[in-house]
Amino acid sequence: MKALKISSGILFLGLSLFQVSCSSETIKTKTESKGNITTSAEFEIRGIDLNSYEILAEIEYLPVKNSTCEITSFQNLLQKNFEILIQDPYFDIDIAFYLRDLHRKYVTHYIGPNYYGSDGQYNHLEAKRLRELQKFWQLDRQIYLNGQHTATLEDPKQLADMIESFDRSIRNATEARIKALQIIEAYEKSRQIPENTFFALDAFTRSNGLLVISDGILQLLEESGIPGEIAFSGLLAHEWWHQAQFEYNLQWENDYTENPELLRELEADFAAAYFLGHKRGATYNWKRIESFFDMTYNSGDCFTESPGHHGTPAQRLKAAQSGFALAYSEKKKGKPGKPLEIHTAFLQSM
Ligand SMILES: [Zn+2]
Repeated sequence: MKALKISSGILFLGLSLFQVSCSSETIKTKTESKGNITTSAEFEIRGIDLNSYEILAEIEYLPVKNSTCEITSFQNLLQKNFEILIQDPYFDIDIAFYLRDLHRKYVTHYIGPNYYGSDGQYNHLEAKRLRELQKFWQLDRQIYLNGQHTATLEDPKQLADMIESFDRSIRNATEARIKALQIIEAYEKSRQIPENTFFALDAFTRSNGLLVISDGILQLLEESGIPGEIAFSGLLAHEWWHQAQFEYNLQWENDYTENPELLRELEADFAAAYFLGHKRGATYNWKRIESFFDMTYNSGDCFTESPGHHGTPAQRLKAAQSGFALAYSEKKKGKPGKPLEIHTAFLQSM
C-alpha cells in the first residue's frame, strides 16, 4: 500500500480548496459544439490539484475568502468527511481520484436499471416528482435521472465495466475484471474506500436530458439537518431547471450578463423554490419550504474569487426566497408560470 503523508498545514490548504458548488458550466451555443453533451450544469466537488497544492503550501498562500460569508454546516461536513477519508490507513490519493473520476464518467454514460438513495428510499418520490415537473414546465425533451451510489464501486461487474470503458490503460474485458478484483480486494478492509461520500458526490445535468443525484450529497444534506425527501426534491427541481435553461438557451443566453454561471445557478434555486412552493407543483408548506431555504443556504460557498463560485449562502437563500414568494403571490392564479415568465421574474428579482 502506498503511504501518503500529508502535513496538517497542507491538509488545511487542501480543504480550503475543496468546495462543493451547485454550478452551471458555461452553456455553449449550438454552433460551438456539435456533440451530444454540449453543455453541463453541475453540483460538483472540485478535486485538489496536487501540483498547485504543493506550491500553495510552500508559499503559504490562502485562497481569498469573502470575510463576511459564513462557512455552512454542509461545507463543514464536507471537510470533515474528507478528513476522515484521508486518515484511513488504506488511503491512497491516486486510487481515490481514480475511483471518483471513473464513477463520475460511469454515471454520466450509464443507461439502465436505477435506484435513488442508498437503499432505493426515493424511488417512489423520483417517479412522482418527475411526473410533476414534466407537467409543470412541459419541456420538450426526454429527461432521466441516474442515482449515484458508492455500492456501485463495490460491485465487481460494474467496477470492471467502468474500468473497461474509461481506463485507457486497459485493453480488454479480462484485464478490466482482473483490475476490478484487485482494487476490491486491496480495499476490502478499508471502511472509507469506497464507502466515503467522496466517491458518490455528484449532482449535475447534461444537455442530453441526464440528471444525476448522488447518495453522498443527499447524506451530507441530511446530516446538516435537511430532511432527505426535501433534499432529494430540491436537487431534482434545481437540476430540472437547468434543462429549461438548455432548452431556451438561444433565447436566454444574452440575458445572463456579467456572471452567467452564477446567474444560472441562482435562477435554478429560484425556479426550484417556485416549483416546490406552487400548488400545482410540490405544494410545500412553510415548514417544508424553510428546510429548502436551509438547503440553498447550505449549498452556498464563500469562495467568491474562485472561477467556479456559484453563490454565497446569502445569495442562494435570497434566490430561493424570491422564487417561493412568486409562487405564493400566484396562489389564486392556479396555473404555473411558463419557463419564460419564471426566467423574466428571476431577472427582475436580481
Ligand atoms: Zn446547478
